[in-house]
Amino acid sequence: MSPAGRFAPSPSGDMHIGNLRTAVLAWIWARRTGRDFVMRIEDIDRVKEGAAERQLEDMRTLGLDWDGEALYQTTRHEAHAEAIEKLKARGLLFECYCSRKDIQEAASAPHVKPGTYPGTCRNLTEDQRRHERARLAKHGRSPALRLNPNVDSWTVTDELFGSVTEPIDAVVLQRGDGTIAYNLCVVVDDAYQGVDQVVRADDLLSSAPTQAYIANVLGLPEPTYVHVPLVVNEDGARLAKRDGAVTLRQLREAGWSVADVVGAISKSLGFEARTVTELLEVFDPKKMNREQWVFVPPVVG
Ligand code: GLU
Repeated sequence: MSPAGRFAPSPSGDMHIGNLRTAVLAWIWARRTGRDFVMRIEDIDRVKEGAAERQLEDMRTLGLDWDGEALYQTTRHEAHAEAIEKLKARGLLFECYCSRKDIQEAASAPHVKPGTYPGTCRNLTEDQRRHERARLAKHGRSPALRLNPNVDSWTVTDELFGSVTEPIDAVVLQRGDGTIAYNLCVVVDDAYQGVDQVVRADDLLSSAPTQAYIANVLGLPEPTYVHVPLVVNEDGARLAKRDGAVTLRQLREAGWSVADVVGAISKSLGFEARTVTELLEVFDPKKMNREQWVFVPPVVG
């Protein structure tokens, strides 16, 4: 399998210009280093009907292409379950009986900071576990499974941030409802798709060491990372749909051409280009603007 870069959106709705910029950067980073570029739809949760197809269409409209078919993460359940069994057999998981709300938040949000789990269920006696299991069973619930790391921290290499070391968090890898969580699926599927270069927004930088550690203990290769700056609104908060005309479709309705969108993305990175192919030609990571891009949506109507 050829080494690949990738883009892995969650199909929760149309992508805004920040997501599109990350997609363009992921494509450029792969293509300029002679890698394949693969797509993965992370449809384990946060799914909006039809959103995945619209995301793929938006990427094509921008001029991005990828190798092979997009992989839908829900088709990979068996491989995810196998990885859970492997970790279990190695004593690298522990049962967690905390409330479903805490667990769901932790499992579905890829943006949760490490160190957020207080460790409540990590060192219980077998008696306490039996008691907790019975308590949950009364409510028709099962324990979640969290990572029980055998080291304190892990180091990854990021092309923009250098060497990054973070504590390894006891992240939820399987929720009480049986859903296998993002932090495991991302690792198993990156390896499956031959991904050795992960380009994504820098709000996920702090998760990278935990993910690389999981890859390591599963005997999978650890990718190198490129965490790129976020796009923010005028208040400095991560750009969101409520900020106005921010999706490709909204921008086009507001009168922007595709070339205008690519032009704005290119300019924000410090380059002049009107197509993604032009941007690929002029792009130089050493000259890339590393500031967050403050995006002011055009006024519509
Ligand atoms: N699916 C995640 C998201 O859309 C990105 C995961 C990743 O790139 O590792 O936020």
